[in-house]
Amino acid sequence: MYQGRTAAAITPPVRIDADFDGGSIIVVGDVYGAGELGVALALRPDNASSLRRWFCFRSWGEPGEVRRFCIVDAEDAEFAAGWDGYQVCASYDGEDWFRVATRYDEGALFFEHAPSRRGITFAAFATYPHARMRRLVERARRSGRARVRVLGETVQGRPIPAISFGEEGPSAARIWIIARQHPGETMAAWCAEGIVERLLDASDPVTAALAEEAIVTVVPSMNIDGGVLGNHRTNAAGYNLNRAWDAPDLATTPEVFAARSALLESGVDLFLDVHGEETLPYVFAAGCEGNPGYSERIARLERTFEEVLAMMDPSFSPDQGYAPEAPGRDNLECAANWVGERFDCLSLTLEMPFKDDMFHPRPGRGWSPGRSRRFGRAVLEASLLVLPQLR
Ligand code: ZN
Repeated sequence: MYQGRTAAAITPPVRIDADFDGGSIIVVGDVYGAGELGVALALRPDNASSLRRWFCFRSWGEPGEVRRFCIVDAEDAEFAAGWDGYQVCASYDGEDWFRVATRYDEGALFFEHAPSRRGITFAAFATYPHARMRRLVERARRSGRARVRVLGETVQGRPIPAISFGEEGPSAARIWIIARQHPGETMAAWCAEGIVERLLDASDPVTAALAEEAIVTVVPSMNIDGGVLGNHRTNAAGYNLNRAWDAPDLATTPEVFAARSALLESGVDLFLDVHGEETLPYVFAAGCEGNPGYSERIARLERTFEEVLAMMDPSFSPDQGYAPEAPGRDNLECAANWVGERFDCLSLTLEMPFKDDMFHPRPGRGWSPGRSRRFGRAVLEASLLVLPQLR
């Protein structure tokens, strides 16, 4: 029985630190609940919004001792239903991530772990620091195989890089892939890394074939400020970028303004917007069936792309996803819908789970950076195979 003991008697002193790129948590106190002792935590809202869900912190303490945590306000998070069956991501080095079981009970999220080292990071998903994206962009710049340009600046003045592959020419198809409009969906950044790495591999036949017939442009992070600030959903001005595509504003959503301007300048034949999903345990796509201009041609392209993608990566489930939108009802504030309508092209939102792919579960790991990267590689194969039908 824990009652009657002090916190120190049960849990060794545990230090919490969230003051780093992507860090986010509030320490409420040392004790929580009746009869249970550990560190009580609360979710920190996005910097300019009341929305909250992303968390990421380092914990320091005695190796081998159990550390107990409770996020006391988990039920106030966006997509709180997603805590059911969720496992926290944990890592000692920021590279290798494993899962720690949780219990979602009475609106709070409980988890405990006995780390083998003094320091360990716990996060809603494997973190993807801004420095890692900068290294990826720098690798592309130095490769001689890619063109790197800055589309514009974020609210806080950070440059938004885009990496392009393939020969310029009037017949080249324009493929655009953007990732991480929602900063807490770090799996999107891992997926973008997989895409860029494959495009940097000159010996890869898919890459070579794509480069002959298309210009593939990847924007690895749309919401750089939000990622650095440890936000879940919004940019530094408190706006959801994926609700700003019909009328982006240079002051409040400059990220969308910049990307949209680049798309209008280049034209688009295929558009993919990469995200993460808190609740649904599988990888899926959302199409443009609710767009006013949706046609049988686009429906056919969507089916073909999704069937091919499922063959290239069995993690992808073409038959799963959100309920279809009613015709003419889709929200043109969303990137994929706006692009699909404006350019009359194949345009999809791709979603990967925070939890796991329930059809191919990996106990102890869940959906992971490695699987996100591999999914990105498959996305390029599917893009190549639909290329002849895009126009
Ligand atoms: Zn999202």
